Amino acid sequence: MNDTKYLFIEGNWQSGDGKSRTLINPYNEERILEIKEATEEQASQAVLAARRAFDETDWAINKEKRISLIHRLADLLEENSEEFAVAETTNTGKPIRESRLDISDSAACLRYYADLVREETGSEKKNPDDTISKVIEEPIGVCALIVPWNFPLLLGMWKIAPALAAGNTVVFKPSELTALSAIKFTKLIEQSGFPPGVFNLVLGEGLPVGETLVKHPETDKISFTGGSKTGQAINQLCAGTFKRVSLELGGKSPLIIREDADLDAAVEWGIFGAFFNQGEVCVASSRILIHQNIYDSFIERLTKKLEIIKIGDPLQEETEMGPVISKDHLDKIEQYIDVGQQEGATLLTGGRRLAESGFYLSPAVFTNVNQSMRIVQEEIFGPVVTVQSFESDEEAVKLANGTKYGLAAGILSADVRKAEEIASKLKAGTIWINSYHTPYVDAPWGGYKQSGIGRELGPHGLAGFREVKHINTSG
Ligand code: NAD
Repeated sequence: MNDTKYLFIEGNWQSGDGKSRTLINPYNEERILEIKEATEEQASQAVLAARRAFDETDWAINKEKRISLIHRLADLLEENSEEFAVAETTNTGKPIRESRLDISDSAACLRYYADLVREETGSEKKNPDDTISKVIEEPIGVCALIVPWNFPLLLGMWKIAPALAAGNTVVFKPSELTALSAIKFTKLIEQSGFPPGVFNLVLGEGLPVGETLVKHPETDKISFTGGSKTGQAINQLCAGTFKRVSLELGGKSPLIIREDADLDAAVEWGIFGAFFNQGEVCVASSRILIHQNIYDSFIERLTKKLEIIKIGDPLQEETEMGPVISKDHLDKIEQYIDVGQQEGATLLTGGRRLAESGFYLSPAVFTNVNQSMRIVQEEIFGPVVTVQSFESDEEAVKLANGTKYGLAAGILSADVRKAEEIASKLKAGTIWINSYHTPYVDAPWGGYKQSGIGRELGPHGLAGFREVKHINTSG
């Protein structure tokens, strides 16, 4: 990409008039792309373009058109999937095999929502008083979709697909660190022939760009994924006007390993749960809770296995862990490594910078931790896991529920009935029994407590982009 026009507003590419930014490859710290970010004025123009497309075109009411364009977009994404996977790995540092999954899941998400609205038939019923009740679901209007950097395209798609399928128009703002796949995706939007203004792309930081979208009087809905602090600020900004808002926020998810769990499988799931995507996952199982009788053997096997984990160039097929996203983020994670040690926890392994260039940190395991420590309570969002032991299922549940977050949890046990009993007591939006991490496009995703408001994916994800109207007719 040689030009500098990376904002897409009302069907036109334009250069930002705001701050300059260089996208960096976290593997080798090389420059990927120079960008000029949007100004408040340009962010506002994008909202107004979306408003016009919503009010003045047939987008909201022409379901067939939406379905066929969304499928066309999925076709193009699939045709270009390798290019997208390489772009995602270059910009985020995630292993290429994981990027490939992100891209195929993104295309599947587009198709899922196009098909979901195709199947809808509407609802009408006769009441006992002989009146007719019709329930109609309508798009909300202009939606600002704001996402973080850890799954740049996939998390975008969890919003873009249902928002467009429901008939909304959108302004998409990726993280300022990871705009590459969003720019490429927008080129496919253009190529598919979406009407001008239906999809707009703005680039820039939370302040001023994200906040302009949130505060704009013509934005009807904010769908946000990111940190809980940012979510809080956005929720406050929306409170004054009751603007629709859904928030997918942080987590500190537990993986409960019962005494009857297969120990080798527990080590595999423990590593995958905590260190997949370098631990930069909202649902990362960053707290391992393990029955005291198997604690020692688990720790021994975990440490051995971590020694052979393949950390390296994320474009190499065999790489299992890449670098974290940025120098700033690496510094933040290292501060938590210090905090843990100052709090009296034992750094069993890892937590060291690994390379001359690139933002690499070896996977860190803390033992001798207690529930009140910051490393147990706060989201670190990197390759750091704490291990605590428990005596009984009741204690495991108490520890698992003992943070302000409630995004996800895992339970490993040979006794699935017992595991389901535990699951019923956990305050978390997604619970995996004898597995971890996989999102299912048709199942809800979201948080209890301070992990968010609302749900993405599945029919719940579509409902989040709609208003519901009841029309009652007599005579
Ligand atoms: P962040 O909150 O700093 O930023 C997220 C996005 O919001 C970015 O695009 C950013 O530019 C924008 N933003 C920042 N301040 C804003 C403001 N005042 N108004 C509007 N937009 C603003 O988060 P991050 O560091 O990019 O991502 C990491 C966080 O995301 C973690 O806490 C992680 O748990 C969370 N996350 C949650 C989920 C989920 O599904 N629940 C998924 C992935 C990541």
